[in-house]
Amino acid sequence: MSESYDVQQVCENGHQITDCYNISPEKRRKFCQECGASTITACLCCGEEIQGAQIGVSQDYFGGRTGQKMVSQIDADVPSYCRNCGKSYPWTESKIVTAIQILTEFGNLDEKEKETIKQDINNIARDVPQAELSAMRIRQIWKKCSMAGYEIIMEFASRTAAKVLKNP
Ligand SMILES: [Zn+2]
Ligand SMILES: [Zn+2]
Repeated sequence: MSESYDVQQVCENGHQITDCYNISPEKRRKFCQECGASTITACLCCGEEIQGAQIGVSQDYFGGRTGQKMVSQIDADVPSYCRNCGKSYPWTESKIVTAIQILTEFGNLDEKEKETIKQDINNIARDVPQAELSAMRIRQIWKKCSMAGYEIIMEFASRTAAKVLKNP
């Protein structure tokens, strides 16, 4: 069995167009059907392709004769960061910016929270050691503003942060 990855095409707002860009060229789109944004297949920063579905090909053998070719496929999720340069993709960036805006406008932030909100949201997006502390701070803010921005923050929250945020 041989395994390889196809390429993924995603719109700038993070809608997956296809994770089988090469094996199913008919699924390619120049623009997103859900939001009209243009689409990309590679990191805008370094040009590394966005990883798509995992494709496995195996061959069955019957008494020395070559049987049918089996193709298996494991779907890919839309990633948040480029695996080559670590830069966030455009959709991750706009979700982070939107989350900061929501909490700044509706979060009833005190002076200290205003200072740390940007860093806290960025920490939550990445699996860094500070993510847990930042998630606890966001939970405090949510107590004042009935969890404004919950949906969008959970979309990009790292595993560490999500664990804290899911139990407000
Ligand atoms: Zn879209
Ligand atoms: Zn990159």
